[in-house]
Amino acid sequence: MVVRGLAVVSRKPSRRPRLQRLRVVVTAGPTREHIDPVRYLTNESSGRMGFAIAAAAARAGHEVILIAGPVHLATPRGVRRTDVVSARDMLDATLRAVRNADALFMAAAVADWRPALRRRDKWSKSKGVARATLALVQNPDILARAARVPSARGRRLVVGFALETRRGLARARSKLKRKGADFIVLNDASALNARRSSVIILGSDGTCNRLTKRSKASISRSLVELLTRTRRG
Ligand code: C5P
Repeated sequence: MVVRGLAVVSRKPSRRPRLQRLRVVVTAGPTREHIDPVRYLTNESSGRMGFAIAAAAARAGHEVILIAGPVHLATPRGVRRTDVVSARDMLDATLRAVRNADALFMAAAVADWRPALRRRDKWSKSKGVARATLALVQNPDILARAARVPSARGRRLVVGFALETRRGLARARSKLKRKGADFIVLNDASALNARRSSVIILGSDGTCNRLTKRSKASISRSLVELLTRTRRG
């Protein structure tokens, strides 16, 4: 009860459950796999989706570690950022952060392949040689590896992404199982560098929710909600 002047105002107890401050790890942006000091393989990715998730999680009061590949984006307020270059750098940073994480949002567009050999010097053209071959080796699957790390803090929420140009639903479902994620957010190539996007959120519990033509900020709020719905204090 609050007494203001002569008026007596009775305050109803809040019905909203108290929200725990959780530790959230987000990966974002592309990785670069160097061929030599000046050339690399990469994926198309602005990093906007991951940065929007980090911003939404921080705004919801969580502690956020953002592991970012090379992007041109400002760090969202209240977010701790680690910059990485290659998939193997991203793996190391993610494995360091994951043990104490309550949630992982893996929005990075990790390069599937890296050159088998990184040349120390710039690869020069040789006179009369019109063709060259680049040997590649597969990069580690960061999401699959991180999802298997035991949690020091109880149940951990793992959300992965899938960008597919065909057979999206079938591929996303198989990724849910193969990578050990709780949710996979499926989008198509129109999401690349775009401000608005349509996604389907598939859950390992069989749920399937479609968000149509929403801003990345709005999609991010829905994704962070997945966490607040499952972990209230
Ligand atoms: O296998 P694919 O690249 O389609 O899987 C996409 C999901 O897996 C994304 O969440 C992405 O961040 C993650 N991923 C990863 N490490 C890789 C490849 C993908 O963490 N090497």
